[in-house]
Amino acid sequence: MRYFAALFAVSLICAISVAQTKKAPIEAIKQADLKRDLFRLADDYFRGREAGTLDELKASTWLAEEARKAGLEPAGDDGTYFQFFSLNRERISDRSTIKIGERSFNLWKDVVVYEPAFATVAAPIVFIENPDTVAEETVKGKVVALQFTPQGITDPRKTIAWRYSGFVVSAWARKLAAKGVKAILFVSDELAEQAWPRYAQYSNRGSYQIEGSLFPNRRLLKDIPIIWVRKEALGLVRTPGQRLDAQIYSESFTYPSVNVVAKVKGTDPALAKEYVLFSGHQDHDGVRNIEGVKDSIMNGADDNATVSVALLAIGRAFHQQPGKRSALFVWHGSEERGLFGSTWYAEHPTVPRESLVAVLNGDMIGMNAPDSAALLGVIPPHLNSSDLVKIALQENAKGPKFKLDTAWDKASHHEGWYFRSDHFPYAKKNIPAVFFSTLPHPLYHTPGDEAATINIEKLTRMTRWMYATGFAVANAANRPRLEPGFKLER
Ligand SMILES: [Zn+2]
Repeated sequence: MRYFAALFAVSLICAISVAQTKKAPIEAIKQADLKRDLFRLADDYFRGREAGTLDELKASTWLAEEARKAGLEPAGDDGTYFQFFSLNRERISDRSTIKIGERSFNLWKDVVVYEPAFATVAAPIVFIENPDTVAEETVKGKVVALQFTPQGITDPRKTIAWRYSGFVVSAWARKLAAKGVKAILFVSDELAEQAWPRYAQYSNRGSYQIEGSLFPNRRLLKDIPIIWVRKEALGLVRTPGQRLDAQIYSESFTYPSVNVVAKVKGTDPALAKEYVLFSGHQDHDGVRNIEGVKDSIMNGADDNATVSVALLAIGRAFHQQPGKRSALFVWHGSEERGLFGSTWYAEHPTVPRESLVAVLNGDMIGMNAPDSAALLGVIPPHLNSSDLVKIALQENAKGPKFKLDTAWDKASHHEGWYFRSDHFPYAKKNIPAVFFSTLPHPLYHTPGDEAATINIEKLTRMTRWMYATGFAVANAANRPRLEPGFKLER
């Protein structure tokens, strides 16, 4: 109770003393709060907060409770802090069987089935060297086998094992399917073999979708199984007269996922009907037993516990001194599975969509050089509101003075970073949106992304920058305008 009484007193004093200037109480964002919350949310207790699991729900409940303690009002469905939505999950069934010659292969231990499929295959294997030049009559109606090869891949990412593997599979699968093959059997080379354990852990989860997804067509082939065996199986696969016998089954489920939604009402009777939306995602990649990696919990401290706790801190500051416009906080679920929470909320907002004046999204804000950061949504065609960008840049100049990266926002950047976080579905709906990030790092999407590696001091400055930007937007005379002719390249 003491905490609340003190906060109330402080908020009264602030309201009286700065009513004229509307100066943001930036010191309300405290490094100690961010550190405490980060170590809690990125703790093993939440088991990596995987979308569509009880762990994600547990983390969401924790966030809602912290939002309530921070004085935020519920703004989800039916007077709660929650907005539930359904994930459709499809995966390879454990009943599937795969035999090469007389040897049975164990799913996810010595064979990966790359994507869900239904198929019965009993056919000879033809081992080929070059999928481009192989004649249709050589492979039609057969199982085509080939070793991974970098041939024909010019992308600079090809040296990263798991990316390379993905490139090779997608480069050849459709071409071979067009030649009428029954199944495709990839055998690792040295580089693909390094990625195999990771794919085994990702592919066994299957694929996820929601209604209205922005990434609807991830499947390479329909019911032509793509099977990937390890390097040691090369000799067996190449044995003359070899056969594949496989029964591949898939199964589908509906799982709940959830957005946590809270607000602080604005002080201006008219402008309070408009919202500045602070956005982040609370989910990460769960528990994955990857061969050769000791730690199995993907804690996602930078990605994206940093922004989840930043939103709590920003909420406390708004509670202490609300803006003229209302502040809305959405901790999206299922971002890692395909921006599903934000896609859902942008389609089914719990406040009128026209009332969302700006989206300030953050994803990964606590790593890399202490003086550097990135703001995306700044360079055309990603620039969707010069007004909003101007405010964000002014607040950087007044406050943290980060050296801002200018490469990762470019349409030509090979990572496509702009399209990989929760502002994107809102920008698609023509809502002014920017994306704060300190960009990826070697621990990105590994079990090593732990709270102890986060630069808390930098996290504090990033949080204050997001907050100051949002506070300025909340108090501006006019809402940020959409860029004339705004159209994303994807
Ligand atoms: Zn993320």
